[in-house]
Amino acid sequence: MRNTPHPFRLNLGFIVHQEVGYKHEIPFEIEKYQISDDLEIRNFKGVAIISRTPQGLLVQGTFSGESTLECVRCLKELKHNLSWELTDLFAFNEKSVSESDLVMGEDAQIDLQPLLREYALLEIPINPICKNNCKGLCFECGQDLNAIDCGHKNISEESSFSALKDLLEE
Ligand SMILES: [Zn+2]
Ligand SMILES: [Zn+2]
Repeated sequence: MRNTPHPFRLNLGFIVHQEVGYKHEIPFEIEKYQISDDLEIRNFKGVAIISRTPQGLLVQGTFSGESTLECVRCLKELKHNLSWELTDLFAFNEKSVSESDLVMGEDAQIDLQPLLREYALLEIPINPICKNNCKGLCFECGQDLNAIDCGHKNISEESSFSALKDLLEE
């Protein structure tokens, strides 16, 4: 359990001094982690495998967790599971940087947090919905149409499209 404020700031001096090919696994398990201003990940688990290569330290990680998003249609909260992998090289010096442009500090510290944030945000849908057929809120009275039929006409583009599709499939 790492519940320090910076669980992903790693001091890897001991790996730098190993032979090329040496690998070290670092497990993570964090109950709650605020990965960016508006994203909290719960039950955040993962493993980072750090390998010593001639050019630097290669980080291969697998992470998963759970976040709470808001349905864009009915505004209810919904749980969203995330999982992602990352592979990035932290180079020993500028000459060996890879595409990701990461260089290790002289103190052999690396911070995985910005990388994790970047990957985690890619896992968040732009328009999360609680269920595929979420009816959303009534445009007229604001009630949740999943729970109640208020009688107002709420014909969205999507529902007229699915009505058309139903007709074609008949
Ligand atoms: Zn919804
Ligand atoms: Zn209504």
